[in-house]
Amino acid sequence: MKYISTRGQAPALDFEQVLLAGLASDGGLYVPENLPTFSAQEIREMASLDYAQLAHRIIAPFVDDCIPGDDLRDILEETYAEFRHNAVAPMVQLAPNQWVLELFHGPTLAFKDFALQLLGRLLDHVLERKHQKVVVMGATSGDTGSAAIEGCKRCRNIDIFILHPHQRVSDVQRRQMTTVQGDNIHNLAVQGNFDDCQAMVKASFCDRSFLPEDRSLVAVNSINWARIMAQIVYYFYAAVALGAPSRPVAFSVPTGNFGDIFAGYLAHQMGLPLERLLIATNRNDVLHRVMTTSVYGRQSLVHTLSPSMDITVSSNFERLLFDLYDRDGAAIADLMRRFDEGDIAFNDAAMEKARSLFDSQCVSDEETCAQIAGSWKECEYLLDPHSAIGVKAALESGLPPEVPVITLATAHPAKFPDAIRSAGLDQEVALPLHLRDLFEREERVDVLPNDLGAVQAFMANNINA
Ligand SMILES: *Cc1c(COP(=O)(O)O)cnc(C)c1O
Repeated sequence: MKYISTRGQAPALDFEQVLLAGLASDGGLYVPENLPTFSAQEIREMASLDYAQLAHRIIAPFVDDCIPGDDLRDILEETYAEFRHNAVAPMVQLAPNQWVLELFHGPTLAFKDFALQLLGRLLDHVLERKHQKVVVMGATSGDTGSAAIEGCKRCRNIDIFILHPHQRVSDVQRRQMTTVQGDNIHNLAVQGNFDDCQAMVKASFCDRSFLPEDRSLVAVNSINWARIMAQIVYYFYAAVALGAPSRPVAFSVPTGNFGDIFAGYLAHQMGLPLERLLIATNRNDVLHRVMTTSVYGRQSLVHTLSPSMDITVSSNFERLLFDLYDRDGAAIADLMRRFDEGDIAFNDAAMEKARSLFDSQCVSDEETCAQIAGSWKECEYLLDPHSAIGVKAALESGLPPEVPVITLATAHPAKFPDAIRSAGLDQEVALPLHLRDLFEREERVDVLPNDLGAVQAFMANNINA
């Protein structure tokens, strides 16, 4: 399988190269040149597979001979054995034809574990064979950092540096990062905000000269193709459980960077019949605006009760655009160049294609709270604020009653106790057993000034031999 850039000017890569690459050299994102497809019969047969077996079925064609089949099987078994539910991604029914797919049974209680538990293991496997070591660097406002650290903690060939804004992430989220033990794990609390952290990561990817020559820098944000790939699996898993391919289902996806929902789009392209994909956003609604007005434009950031979806630009939307513009890399390069200067409008043909599968909904904090309270009242089911946005969008979708709508529950409610209180619910939300002693564990973190030179010097000095 070859991977090509959405902007058409970078060299094609194989899986191993794309795993280690961040952005393409032309500024684009990598996508598969061709997608594997599954027939209705093949999809029907998926119903008999457990999660790891299904993951192998879906992922093997993307990886081809970069990782031999048996090794890949072992890696996937090990990855999904980390999840604390026998079904890995169980479903719960909230109302007639309303379902919730619980993606929060992994080590850090957010759906990002599905991809990052796998990414760490894939990287280690490839690096071990190549006798190579790498530095992973990322910025986080919460969920990504802890999932990346948990995913990389056992990897001997990776030093991971995660920057978070000092005193600006929640206690649970900070402790999920800083209490993980391992001398290859480096938590940097930067005396600035999230944008400062992200700017430092970007600058470091542009000029890597602060690193020793034998270390390359690897990205773990959702521009990394392997993350999207891992997320395709649960769309098949859930749809088949509810009767696909005979019965088409819809998904409602709480969306920030368009990574998770793009995986749903790919599942559809690979043969999974879908009635609809619902883009559910909070007040940072760049995607809802583009769906309703065809104009893609930045607005200033709003802090909401669903912080993991607080973004101004959805980087993975470019991957969809590439298809909407018939894979014309030059057209995408031109659009993105103009987007650097201001708002852009997409053509009718592209938007028509998008609207034939996607719908969108913007959900306010007030509506989020009302949904959390409502689902609790109606069936004593506690939603986290991100998942509540998805459920609200699902209920408002206007889909015919015979279509099951599956909302992706992207985080466990115990991660966001403030939102639960804002919803007027006063019961304690207990952390799952494996995290009950989180507040007694020892923290390891270095506080650094908001200064690129200081951060890079710290990294250079703390990379393991
Ligand atoms: C990251 C995250 C999202 C958004 O995912 P995207 O792939 O960026 O759309 C939604 N909910 C939670 C809890 C998250 O951590």
